[in-house]
Amino acid sequence: MTAEIIDGKAFAAKVRAQVAAHVAVIRESHGVIPGLAVVLVGEDPASQVYVRAKGKQTVEVGMNSYEHKLDADTSEADLLALIKRLNGDADVHGILVQLPLPGHLNEDLVISSIDPAKDVDGFHISNVGLLGTGQKSMVPCTPLGCLMMLRDHHGSLSGMDAVIIGRSNIVGKPMAQLLLGDSCMVTIAHSRTRDLPDVVRRADIVVAAVGRPEMVPGDWIKPGATVVDVGINRIDAPEKGEGKTRLVGDVDFASVVQVAGAITPVPGGVGPMTIACLLANTLTACCRAGGMPEPEGLTV
Ligand code: NDP
Repeated sequence: MTAEIIDGKAFAAKVRAQVAAHVAVIRESHGVIPGLAVVLVGEDPASQVYVRAKGKQTVEVGMNSYEHKLDADTSEADLLALIKRLNGDADVHGILVQLPLPGHLNEDLVISSIDPAKDVDGFHISNVGLLGTGQKSMVPCTPLGCLMMLRDHHGSLSGMDAVIIGRSNIVGKPMAQLLLGDSCMVTIAHSRTRDLPDVVRRADIVVAAVGRPEMVPGDWIKPGATVVDVGINRIDAPEKGEGKTRLVGDVDFASVVQVAGAITPVPGGVGPMTIACLLANTLTACCRAGGMPEPEGLTV
């Protein structure tokens, strides 16, 4: 069997088109333009790339993008003052502080200072608690993107056996909550899991969010299972020339594609969906703030 490739790039384009259409409607009917503020502290090259991509796509769907670039040695007080200002700015519906922050800044404190209604990353403990208790919340973008692709592929996920590898606050744990919300039977595996291959082998759905290049081989996968590869790892690619690199996931694509029923590739799978879901969350936050109808299918 060769797995069906779940095309995250195409799916993300569809989500962005849906967002753009809804933005145009609320702009026309309510005169409101959703606004996303992205705060970048320091000059981490990967973060700069992400922030640029977010700003570009925000504008492309018709929303306002506000970028705040702060020096790496910005004090916590200055950062908190900026967030306070953005919390009170009626033109800003979503606030994203690009992580990781430089070491002298307390990430938990910074995240908890964001108004939960504008917390489009879904990392504020109020949103974590709401998601955990099955209430309306802002949902973290990467797991939301994974859920959208799984729902699109399967329809109902009810009763499926899902194994998530990784228990981070930004991917593994919220992914578990979302799949539980869709009535999967959920297992979260991590570095202390005994006999990981056997745990993974029983899964109908495998979500790999580990950060270890090509760790999950095909012989861990139940034939026909759906595999969502969240990992983004840059490895050397001498075959492309000296000093060249390439991106791979946490799943060994070449062997898993022979066994799985469906798989998200890296690149072109979960990655593009993450930014699309950020735009969807900003739109959702804007609609909730203005008491306007929320777009359908873009949140849980
Ligand atoms: P973290 O490093 O925060 O978490 C990794 C998790 O993997 C931990 O829970 C860890 O377990 C577990 N783990 C590590 N080694 C093993 C092992 N040998 N066996 C089983 N479990 C293991 O990573 P993130 O969740 O932030 O990210 C995971 C991956 O997803 C990364 O490659 C990251 O780049 C990517 N990512 C991609 C995004 C996208 O947009 N596509 C967005 C966010 C992340 P323990 O807790 O016990 O240490």
